[in-house]
Amino acid sequence: MGRAEVPVRGITGMEAVDATYRLLDEPVGERHRIRHRHRHRQPRPRRPRRHRRLGAQLGGTTSRSSRLVAERYDLPTQVANDANMAAQGERTFGGASADTMLIRVGRGVGSGLIVGGHLVHGSGFAAGEIGHVVVGTDGGADCACGKAGCLETWLASPRLEAHLADAADDASRVAVLREAGERLGIALGPVVAALNLGEVILAGPHDLLAGDLLEATAETLRSRTMGELHGDLSLRMTALGRDIVVLGAVVTVLTGQAGIS
Ligand SMILES: [Zn+2]
Repeated sequence: MGRAEVPVRGITGMEAVDATYRLLDEPVGERHRIRHRHRHRQPRPRRPRRHRRLGAQLGGTTSRSSRLVAERYDLPTQVANDANMAAQGERTFGGASADTMLIRVGRGVGSGLIVGGHLVHGSGFAAGEIGHVVVGTDGGADCACGKAGCLETWLASPRLEAHLADAADDASRVAVLREAGERLGIALGPVVAALNLGEVILAGPHDLLAGDLLEATAETLRSRTMGELHGDLSLRMTALGRDIVVLGAVVTVLTGQAGIS
């Protein structure tokens, strides 16, 4: 087993597809060429029906990316959101409950939502995405999306690190982390209540999220939701580490392509 990475910061569209090629050409390319030679002698197998259906569901850009990658390597291909894959990984390998929200904090804030044991996609394939919900009515920092005070401006790693670098002492650092945790709790409250979630799981930098931030989120959720109804809600960090997205993708491929569930 090997590990390979390509930088993807800020890239979209065909640039993202090219980055995928750079990542896959070496490990998959050899097999691609072998399959390519075989194609002269035998008809190309039809893609599994589920793959075609999934491509249509995912909509324009994603469907096109999936088709381009599938054609380059002559392999069934699924394109999926990283936070959704993390949620799937947590559900299968991390013991997450059937009603779980996974919040993935990195350069942005992503989220995957599992309800009744199933990944929820939503009408525009953005279910659970609370990163660009404005939290509070007191303004906040400008966000890349054009609004101000989105959850991402409080919680994304680069923003948190910048605020912590500006903090004068330990008390100010704790205040920064607690503020971010409270904003996350405020954003999560209605979601937890509406869906009666059993678990909220955070994935991201342990040094930022575990501790004061997570505690403040838990306190905020407790104070803003009905304890009798949502008292058994568990809020924790993932234990799956950096491979959480890959693990979820493995589950998705096994389920989607091999029919294993
Ligand atoms: Zn925003």
